[in-house]
Amino acid sequence: MGAELLVMIAPKGSKEEILDWYQDENHSMAISHGYEYSGTWASKDEGLVFINNVIFDSYEEAEAHIRDGNEKWEKPWAVPFKGYIDTAKMKKLKEELSRLNSEKIFGRSKKISDLTKKLTSEIVNQKSTYKGCSSCGSKLKASLLKDYVCPLCNASLLSNTAQKRLDALKDKMSPEFYNVKIDAIKSELKELEQKEASKSKEIRYVVGGWCPS
Ligand SMILES: [Zn+2]
Repeated sequence: MGAELLVMIAPKGSKEEILDWYQDENHSMAISHGYEYSGTWASKDEGLVFINNVIFDSYEEAEAHIRDGNEKWEKPWAVPFKGYIDTAKMKKLKEELSRLNSEKIFGRSKKISDLTKKLTSEIVNQKSTYKGCSSCGSKLKASLLKDYVCPLCNASLLSNTAQKRLDALKDKMSPEFYNVKIDAIKSELKELEQKEASKSKEIRYVVGGWCPS
């Protein structure tokens, strides 16, 4: 038996309206997933606890408060944060962040595959008909090559210069390369979020908690 974190941002409104909304959501979760161990609010104690002693600067911090504090056998929490709408700059940074994250996770960045294709096509379209493999000595018909490695021994067919260029790019596109960029964007975002939060008068609630599953 585990627990799943389920949180949602409550629609704008008074605490009574948020409680009504929560009860409606809870009810529809119970209908679609059942009560016990459903991993939804319906598997938690009924009712909502409004956290009143703190207002967080961002949604992320409010969510982390629930993640770190809510127990699976207690009621869901409603945690206030200063609601604001992302500025164009913040949206752009978030897009950049998710692009970098997926590039990092899927390893081969577009830049690496673009360069690989380019270097391969240079071999395929070279002037002489044959490409010699310096590793196994085979003479390969250049126009038939599909990759920059020898189909017989798997050695690279790239020139030293080309190979160095590819290796250098792969080094540059290392996880550390991404981490530095990602951290920089995260801290820039955090600063902008705090700035927006300090201007924002509106309080929103993130609602939820750990649900027995
Ligand atoms: Zn070979």
